Amino acid sequence: MQRITILGATGSIGVSTLDVLARHPERYSVYALSAHSRVDELAAQCIRFRPARAVVGTAAGASQLSALLRAAGVNTEVEYGEAALCGIASAPEVDSVMAAIVGAAGLAPTLAAARAGKKVLLANKEALVMSGQLFIDAAQQAGAVLLPIDSEHNAIFQCMPQFGGRMPAVRDEAAGIAKILLTASGGPFLTRDVATLDAVTPEQACKHPNWSMGRKISVDSATMMNKGLEVIEAHWLFGAPAERIEVVIHPQSVIHSMVSYMDGSVLAQLGNPDMRTPIAHALAYPERIASGVAQLDLTQIATLQFERPDFKRFPCLALAFDALKAGGTAPALLNAANEIAVQAFLDLKIGFRQIDRVIAHVMEALPHGDADSIAAVMAQDAAARAAAETYIAGLAK
Ligand code: NDP
Ligand code: MG
Repeated sequence: MQRITILGATGSIGVSTLDVLARHPERYSVYALSAHSRVDELAAQCIRFRPARAVVGTAAGASQLSALLRAAGVNTEVEYGEAALCGIASAPEVDSVMAAIVGAAGLAPTLAAARAGKKVLLANKEALVMSGQLFIDAAQQAGAVLLPIDSEHNAIFQCMPQFGGRMPAVRDEAAGIAKILLTASGGPFLTRDVATLDAVTPEQACKHPNWSMGRKISVDSATMMNKGLEVIEAHWLFGAPAERIEVVIHPQSVIHSMVSYMDGSVLAQLGNPDMRTPIAHALAYPERIASGVAQLDLTQIATLQFERPDFKRFPCLALAFDALKAGGTAPALLNAANEIAVQAFLDLKIGFRQIDRVIAHVMEALPHGDADSIAAVMAQDAAARAAAETYIAGLAK
């Protein structure tokens, strides 16, 4: 029996994870669940899955959750705040941690899980983008197993079966890998007239053609910052230099990514676009379990298309490559500026095309340093947030 903590249980990935777990009660039990502010949803999950512990964002949320659970006769222990999140991620009772909090808020608990040597199912890409080598080193030192949940990275991992679950370094000649081909749907605005992009609404930006996801990653998909963050994520997970990572637009989202080997072979992982596939893969690895996802019908899909990304249409993708090449705390800076800009767009404070301008401004205005400690990364994160807020306030005038 594998005991699981889900960080971000009420989100899109969290709900999909519980859906897979519920299909295999003989294999998995839920040790702890967390949410930030959706207390009613978390209460319903606790009533159904009976975790030992649950964590929310605030004291008020915790008393609300306690009251709901008491009324239902459920004796889950309720806590709140970052220290409690780190606690449920690193508790000795836990085998695996699904890291599915969105944004920089996921860094501390995901790192706590890695430092405690857990099997870490990594959905929260922002944590790895920010902390890079520090995170990989912490996981390695503690003997933690990192399994990628992001569909592209999970696909790449599946396309490297000869390494038996050990992450090979792409830069290592012996691995025989020429390139990672990271597929991207191109999001809802792939073919929209660029001149009209400033007028798009958050609802339009969040309406992804193939995937149903949380609002932040949906906007990131529309700007292609999501792919940019994934390039950086692939760099750290697979030891891949920027020039060995190629982004390929593939609007059908059926091929989830590919690995191109030196002998000319290209291995791909295919499937319907449903996150329960990578979630089930990582949960059961190296075995396979049913995920609830329908088998792929290639004759139904009939056509698979590919094209190169247009960096002018998607400047955020270029900014992410710049941050990766700059190194140090530049990716943390990029990520923080992006989080603030996306929230401002969702709050109707800036237009869609101002997202990339905010990030470009912050990256030009602030120096970046060495990412030699988590404290340095967090300081860069805070400075970038402040600079982005100031710039946005100026734009609104
Ligand atoms: P959602 O917005 O749907 O869910 C986010 C979860 O994190 C919720 O449980 C939310 O709680 C919690 N949360 C939000 N803010 C905080 C905070 N400050 N502190 C603690 N918890 C917080 O996001 P997704 O599920 O879409 O994405 C989660 C992560 O997985 C992201 O990093 C994303 O990039 C990555 N990912 C997602 C994919 C997808 O298909 N959705 C695909 C690949 C990667 P509450 O509900 O109470 O607000
Ligand atoms: Mg992805």
